[in-house]
Amino acid sequence: MVSRRNFLAAATMAPAGILAASSDIPRYDLHCHLNPPMTLERALQISKDRNVHFGIVEHAGHKEYYYPNLISTGEQMARYIAMLEGKPVWKGIQAEGPDWMSCFSKQMVARLDYVLSDALTLTDRGKQERIWLPTFEIGDTEDFMERYTDFNVRVMKTEPLDIMANPTFLPERLAPQYDSLWTGDRLKKIVRAAAEYNVALEINSAYQVPRLPMLKMAKRAGCRFSFGSNIHGTGVGNIDYGLEMAKELGLMRKDFFQPAKPGRKPIEIRQFA
Ligand SMILES: [Zn+2]
Repeated sequence: MVSRRNFLAAATMAPAGILAASSDIPRYDLHCHLNPPMTLERALQISKDRNVHFGIVEHAGHKEYYYPNLISTGEQMARYIAMLEGKPVWKGIQAEGPDWMSCFSKQMVARLDYVLSDALTLTDRGKQERIWLPTFEIGDTEDFMERYTDFNVRVMKTEPLDIMANPTFLPERLAPQYDSLWTGDRLKKIVRAAAEYNVALEINSAYQVPRLPMLKMAKRAGCRFSFGSNIHGTGVGNIDYGLEMAKELGLMRKDFFQPAKPGRKPIEIRQFA
């Protein structure tokens, strides 16, 4: 039975309500995957229990980016959107590959609340290199860092993205050297691109990135931020790291990503050569 109290609790999870709470910081997780055994129903329950609004993202792109529920056609996208329609979530995709736009019409992509991507699958050498897998061959560390930095910039420059996820993530073997590898110059290149192309930077709870130096730089550059867990499973909705960083930085409501209004989405307004 839906009591009035439950109804009100549900209403406060609606997109319009999530920023109207006493705190100015949005309680949202915009990097929520529905991988089995996580179902939409389960995610909605966790969202309610944690009082964290969810943005669901499914991987989308050409078929060679093999993910279990990959969306590759307009028809599949329409079904995905229909599945989320009327639910108290935002509808997003995690774009895969530099050419994902060619799978869908602009109108179809514009029906989404946002498009998120990351730089974790390098494609600059004509093949997929998944840097989060233990099998990824880093090669020379400094060369990798230069290449990876440039790839981050390229992704934001050449794709109509709303959110850059997992910024500054490093392969496990390099993670202990995070602070020395992410030099000011490298961070600056990525932050500049985010500011120039108006792409929000995700503050990611799973990997606890980016760290403060980049976040401070991004705040000074006028970038916007979002919270994302990218936690597959019941940890979804954990935005503790994001909340902690937001407090540390003194972020306000205006510093956070909100889905663009119809007609103002990156897929509708950005021009590509
Ligand atoms: Zn993801």
